[in-house]
Amino acid sequence: MTEPRSVYLERLSWKEIRGAIDAGFDTVLVPGGSVEQHGPHLGILKDAAWAEAIGAEVAHELGETLVAPVIRPGTSDHHMGFAGTISYRPETLMAVVEDYCHSLASHGFDTIVLFSMHGGNFPAMNAVLPRIATEVDAKVVTLLDRELLIDPLLESLDAFGVPREARGHGGAAVTASMLHLRPELVLEEECRPGYRGEVPTSTLTTRGLDAVSEMGHMGDPTRATEELGREVTGRLVDAFVDRIQTERGNCHE
Ligand SMILES: [Zn+2]
Repeated sequence: MTEPRSVYLERLSWKEIRGAIDAGFDTVLVPGGSVEQHGPHLGILKDAAWAEAIGAEVAHELGETLVAPVIRPGTSDHHMGFAGTISYRPETLMAVVEDYCHSLASHGFDTIVLFSMHGGNFPAMNAVLPRIATEVDAKVVTLLDRELLIDPLLESLDAFGVPREARGHGGAAVTASMLHLRPELVLEEECRPGYRGEVPTSTLTTRGLDAVSEMGHMGDPTRATEELGREVTGRLVDAFVDRIQTERGNCHE
């Protein structure tokens, strides 16, 4: 068959989607994002835009894969001190993920891949998996762990000689990724270092980012370059594709 016009499910007609599934497009990615602040230099769509772009790259790499509409808001209570953030309660996100899986499986996708470019979604997305496993007739592959998301960023910074403390929420690695993938979301004149001390994640989630960083970000976005963003993207896509292929292989054996 001819390739569908787009890997993005929402841009295709039902007839194109039916044709693609029947012709072997048996895998669908469900990208999780957030609508939350990442400092004064990034549009609040950052995580959702990142998820959309990474989803397309992973789909192209895997082949015979479509990308479901990004779940845009995530669980972002600890960013509510900054204007614009929209936060789902964990149970809202769990219900949305569950309904996505039900819907996609009912159309005949065999494999549903859940990932999130906002680490704050991992607890809720993982918590709903047992329910999905008993209710949904499809293999569900998850990429919901911190190392899988963070290690490619750290390796990229190391490869470019950027100190690891330059990363963080709205820091060098994520700002670079946006310069590469969605440069219109970066306000370069607003890029300046954020809070660079060590803060336990538990402190950030209980007290909120505003207790630590006046501008909302951590690390140093001035170290971001488009080349670094290309490196981060390549490493993330490779890591995600490897994990998906391993998990799918396990299930077919
Ligand atoms: Zn986030």
